[in-house]
Formats: sequence, C-alpha cells, structure tokens
Amino acid sequence: MRDEPSADDRLHRIRHSLAHVMAQAVLKLRPGSKLGFGPAIDDGFYYDFILSSPLTADDFGAIEDEMRKIIAENQTFVREDLSVADGLARIDGMGEPYKREYAEDLVHKQGVSSISFYSNGPFLDMCEGPHVDRSGQLPKDGFKIRSLAGAYWRGDSKNAQMTRLYAYAYADKKALDARIKEAELAKERDHKKLGAELDIYVIDDEIGPGLALWLPNGTVVRDELEKLAKELEFKAGYVRVATPQISKVGLYYKTGHLPYYKQHMYPFMPLVEDGEVREEYVLRPMNCPHHHKVFAARKRSYRDLPLRLAEYGQVFRYEDSGAISGLLRVRSMCMNDAHLYVTPDQIKAEFLAVLEMHRKVYEVLGLESYKLRLSAWDPDDPKGKDKYVNDPEAWESSQKLIREAMADGSFTYEEVKGEAAFYGPKIDVQFKTVTGREETASTNQLDFAVPKRLGLTYVDSSGAEVAPYVIHRAPLGTHERFVAFLLEHYGGAFPTWLAPVQVRIIPVTEQFTGYAEKLCAELRGEMVRAEVDGSSDRMGKKIRDAATAKIPNTLVVGEREQAEATITLRRFGVKEQATMPFAEFQAKLRQAIATRASAFPT
Ligand SMILES: [Zn+2]
Ligand SMILES: [Zn+2]
Repeated sequence: MRDEPSADDRLHRIRHSLAHVMAQAVLKLRPGSKLGFGPAIDDGFYYDFILSSPLTADDFGAIEDEMRKIIAENQTFVREDLSVADGLARIDGMGEPYKREYAEDLVHKQGVSSISFYSNGPFLDMCEGPHVDRSGQLPKDGFKIRSLAGAYWRGDSKNAQMTRLYAYAYADKKALDARIKEAELAKERDHKKLGAELDIYVIDDEIGPGLALWLPNGTVVRDELEKLAKELEFKAGYVRVATPQISKVGLYYKTGHLPYYKQHMYPFMPLVEDGEVREEYVLRPMNCPHHHKVFAARKRSYRDLPLRLAEYGQVFRYEDSGAISGLLRVRSMCMNDAHLYVTPDQIKAEFLAVLEMHRKVYEVLGLESYKLRLSAWDPDDPKGKDKYVNDPEAWESSQKLIREAMADGSFTYEEVKGEAAFYGPKIDVQFKTVTGREETASTNQLDFAVPKRLGLTYVDSSGAEVAPYVIHRAPLGTHERFVAFLLEHYGGAFPTWLAPVQVRIIPVTEQFTGYAEKLCAELRGEMVRAEVDGSSDRMGKKIRDAATAKIPNTLVVGEREQAEATITLRRFGVKEQATMPFAEFQAKLRQAIATRASAFPT
C-alpha cells in the first residue's frame, strides 16, 4: 500500500467510507435491514439494502443528518484480518446473510485465506477497504443522496430484490455543487429527452432497436446538414456518387474487413436457387468498398487525381443490444462520407484540405470544445500482425505526412498509439458530450493498404500502373451521432438556418389570421420554414408553445402591425421584443439563413 495516497485514491477512500457511514445511518433509521454491496462509483457511491421498512426520497434528508452526526463523532475506522473460520463466525454473529454468501464465495471460489473487516463506531462491515482513518476526515457537505433504485443481489434477477441508495460524493461542497449542476444540465440537454420533445426521431420496437425513424423535424436538420456538406464539398472539387446498401460478402474478404470485422456486421443473406446457396449478400457496414469499385470502373490516370467521391451513404453495423442508446449508438446510420484517391505527392495537401473542411464545419456549427487525436499504429502491440497491415515503412511515412499536414495547418493534437485503423493512421475528432463522456464525432483517415488489396491502380507519369492512396473522411460524421451532439450542444434551440420551424406567426386574435397567413405565404415563397399558429388558444399559451418548441423566431401580429405592415419579433430566449417593418425582418432573416449565422442580425 502507498504511504501518500493520490488525489484519486483519497477521493475513492472518502466515497467508500461515506458508503459505510450511510449504511450505519440507514441501520439506525431502519433497524434490522440487511446489507448487500456498497462500493465507490464514478461520482460517489451506493449501498444495497434489504430494508426492514421502505424508504422514499423524503427520507434522504434524515439519512444525511444521521451521516453528519457520525462524521461529527469522528469515529475511527479499524481494520481487522481474521482467519477464514473466525471470519465466517464473525459474519454469523452479524446476522448478515448476503455478506455470508459472498464470504463463502471468496473462500470456496477465489480461495482467499483470510477475511478482512472494517469497523467504525457501532458499524461493522466485511470489507477490503481502503478507508479514511477517522470519520471526521469526511466532508460533511460534500455528499448528497441522489436516488433510490431496485437492484438484484449480485445483479441476478433470480436473486432477492434490494434497494440501492445512490449518492454523489466529492471532496468538498464546491465540487459537489458543480457535479449536481452538470447533472441537471445533462438531464435537460439529453438528446433522447430533446429528441422526443422536439419531434426529432423515434425508435419503434417493431422496426427494431437502434433503427431511428427520423420525424419531419429531424429530417429538416439532416437536410440542412447535407446541404452544408454538399456546398463545402462542391467548392472543394468533390463529385457525388450513389451506391447500393448491400453487396456480396466476398468483397469484404478482399478488403480485409472479414473475418475480423464480422461481429460488427449484420448476418449474411444467402441467395438460394434450386436448393443451393448461390451467393451471400450483406448489408454494408461502410461505404468504402463501393466507392473503390466506382474508382475501378474506369481506367484512371495521374491526371484524373485527386478524385474525390462523396456520398451521404447509409451503413449498417451490428451493435450489441446492451450498447444501443438513443442516436449515439445505433444499428443503421447515414454517413457524410467521401473517399479521396490521391498520388503520393498529393497526400499532404489533400489531408490538410480535409482538416480545413472539418474546421469550417465546426466553426459554422459553433462547436468549440473538440480535440484532435492522431490515432497511430502501435509497433509493439503483440497482436499487431492481426490488428494492423504489416508494413512498418508505410506506417512511418504516412504518420509523418499527417504530422506535417497538422503542423502546416497549425492544428494542435494529441498522438495516441494503438488507435489506428487496420489500414492506416487517422485523425479522430473527439467531443465531450453534456454528460462528460468523450466520443469520436468524425475521422480523417489515410489508407495505404486497401487500394492495393483491391487491385486499384492508376497510370502514373512514367506510364507505370500504381496503387493510389485513399483518404477516408467524414467531417459531419453520421447524421445519427451528429444530430445527437447538436441537440445537446444547442439544448434543442437550433439557430435559424438549422431550425425545423424557422418562423411561427401568432395572430393576436382571429381577426388578424388573414394578415398572418399573407406573411407566411410570402416567407414560404422564399423557402423559409414558416407557419401560422391558427389555434383557438389564448395568446399567452401560443407564445409559451412556441418557446417550448424552441422556435427561434416568433412573430406576433395584431391591429397595429397589420395597419403599418410591421411585425413584433420575439426571439427564442430573448426577453425584449421588437417591432419592425416586415420587409426589414425579411431581410434580416434572409441574411441569417444565407450566412448560417449562429445569432440573428440586430
Ligand atoms: Zn468498505
Ligand atoms: Zn471509407
């Protein structure tokens, strides 16, 4: 054991010691309750109980008060190591059947030769520690009981159902408050909650888990992102292709994805004729092989390169049902894909141009908190031969080119070994979600291997047939993942250009519906997503509804507005409203949409 515990270790001791303190408090308030496990977790701790009588959230305050008393008593945590026989006898004396069962497992299945206990004040627990020395060292205002939940003993539904009390725990009140605030924000901004409230997508069990149905509002967001991507790609000299979502299985053996990638693919579809399997097809897990076949469809010369093939392509990946979550982990996704076929001396400039496109996309979307990671090859990986294409020279030279491109573009990044694709190094763009998890949003990969495997060639300037390098890139990642990020990033309040409904017009009374509809028709004539709230609800309710739907621009029109050809604009999240000529609003709106502005012009 270390003499000087690290900060992490200290926090772990605090959390685990607080778990004992909470158990002691619960036993005082609910005598005769039985104990399960009580470990420290990421943001605090929990303890499982069979309660002698139920607890509710109303009891949390009383438990916390008891805990503070125990802290004030400054009880000493004392460790004791007993022989197996003495230890089991001690547990029998405690009258804790679940601890007894676990101790038996430790002895018979794991072969431990002693059992350790910790006591503090009247509380005794079978436990390996570590703990703080005295309860007085625990922060009396650094913890908060968060929730209770049902949990099966040892996670097995055949076992007794226990009550699990969760608590946050930090070294001090400041850290605790920060975590509570973060958790509240995360709950508010969770893309699953917002996705439902704002009619972005649904998952239907009869369609299948992980297969999102995009609703009209979500489809608008997708379409706008595609429009952005297509514009940037057009200006950067990309051409678009459209390819099928299935192919023969054999293709993936050629590329080298099979057999290693099989667990991430849907089961194969045998095509049976006369009782015999003629072919096997599979839903594509990626677009690359299809694009490679487009490249191979014509004889290519170095004069044709770089060839940049783009497609928003639907791909299918088999995720475990346990891993599926909202739009972040799905089984089918639509990717902002492109493959750039380049000569060796074009690699650096093209790779850099792709990075610049990433930078542009994130700037437009106002995404600032991302990090770039160079995911490199690990030459020392013992499984290296299976995991990576065995071509050390190609690895070193392509990683060098990427480092140079990063330097040329003044990009800061972190280099991580062992995260490369099997065919080459890549730059991953890492985002932090509102829940604090780091996720890869998009990648830019250099591939020196698969083109060779597929026999892709072009004629170089000396007349020789050589394999191109390929850059795989997806600045906007997949719609599924990106819209999940954006929902959380904007808290559902999309900027005007991206908002499903850009303008809602509310007539003050029915009398002014005609004027509202005239304005609406004019806006829609300019391709603005405008609508009139023609419901019979009262004004206050209509304005609240527009705010709940997080519509960026709400126009209120009544007698004065109609007489003067004006509107009264209420911007989402802005208290003051402004009356202006309709033509002026129209001009500002046009500008906000055309420039994809994050704020509205004033
Ligand atoms: Zn313990
Ligand atoms: Zn690819």
